[in-house]
Amino acid sequence: MSDYKMNRQDFDQYMVPVFAPAKFIPVKGLGSRLWDQENREYIDFAGGIAVNALGHAHPITVNALTKQAQKMWHIGNGYTNEPVLALAKELVESTFADKAFFCNSGAEANEAALKLARKVGLLSGVEGKNNIVAFNNSFHGRTLFTVSAGGQPKYSKEFAPLPGGIQHIEFNDLEAAKAVINNQTCAVIVEPIQGEGGVIPADIEFLKGLRELCDQTGAVLIFDEVQTGVGRTGALYAYMNTGIIPDILTTAKSLGGGFPVGAMITTDKFASQFVVGDHGTTYGGNPLASAVAHAVLTYINSEEVLNGVKERHAHFIKTLEIINDKYHVFETIRGAGLLIGCVLKPEYLGKAKDINNLCGQEGLLSLVA
Ligand SMILES: *Cc1c(COP(=O)(O)O)cnc(C)c1O
Repeated sequence: MSDYKMNRQDFDQYMVPVFAPAKFIPVKGLGSRLWDQENREYIDFAGGIAVNALGHAHPITVNALTKQAQKMWHIGNGYTNEPVLALAKELVESTFADKAFFCNSGAEANEAALKLARKVGLLSGVEGKNNIVAFNNSFHGRTLFTVSAGGQPKYSKEFAPLPGGIQHIEFNDLEAAKAVINNQTCAVIVEPIQGEGGVIPADIEFLKGLRELCDQTGAVLIFDEVQTGVGRTGALYAYMNTGIIPDILTTAKSLGGGFPVGAMITTDKFASQFVVGDHGTTYGGNPLASAVAHAVLTYINSEEVLNGVKERHAHFIKTLEIINDKYHVFETIRGAGLLIGCVLKPEYLGKAKDINNLCGQEGLLSLVA
């Protein structure tokens, strides 16, 4: 079945041990199914952590990738290319944004957003306008800057000294936000639904309040939609469900449907504050990634697909409640679209990993947040 003669022990022998992968190795996927080396079948609810929005080996992505693979893989940003321009046009025409910057991951998209916000703060002429406000339990990536912006000290504390000028406050606490957002604030970065932090939706009033505070103080409002974007919540981007428009939005994960790609999108007002040489990347906007992302984005950005997400949400909630009526394991079931979190009852707290492993043994891949 496989061209490689490798097994799970090889992970321990050859890989830097920052992950603890499952005991089985998936080798093939189709739609929502996966198969491992022993040809055991799994239903994939994890989707590569909110990445495989169209499932595995979807013909849309396979065609886009193989077509582009025969033409041109990489050219570098000394030249532009057709797929990246088509992708940028699609992103701009379907969102609040006027301009896009491409990179390879969510962390890099947030890194670009935070750097742009610092530049905006600098050019504002307000002395010391460089403070970033972020939220407890948030997740923005693993580069030193983004892991410092993230609100989970367990991921950053061993890598001090960390970049400064970042303040963390309680998520969904508007009074706390009012107390810290001021003229020295250059950016507020927030997830419309905290993903890795536990599938916790932001209150609409909270987001509205952040928008007003940013408008009053001249801070840039960044929505980290790395996990909530590209149809995940039933809208193309989650901000569209809220009526609140950010200044900068970051997107990655589902954008490439499994091919690494990320983007920061923003309005002309902010994009124009970056000039040639201010920021860059070797692979960002690479033709292979862009061709796939363009195909994924245009396919998902249709009423039919987005309504399908909402229909499946209703189906999942209904059937998870039926399961819960029988087994009484979940305290609450929450989220939007196909970003759904089941909060375990207190008696199962600390058992999430065990339950997740048991799911794997039963042929169901899920995630712990
Ligand atoms: C996954 C995630 C990131 C980081 O993306 P990478 O591609 O892993 O760098 C950033 N923000 C949010 C909200 C995420 O869920």
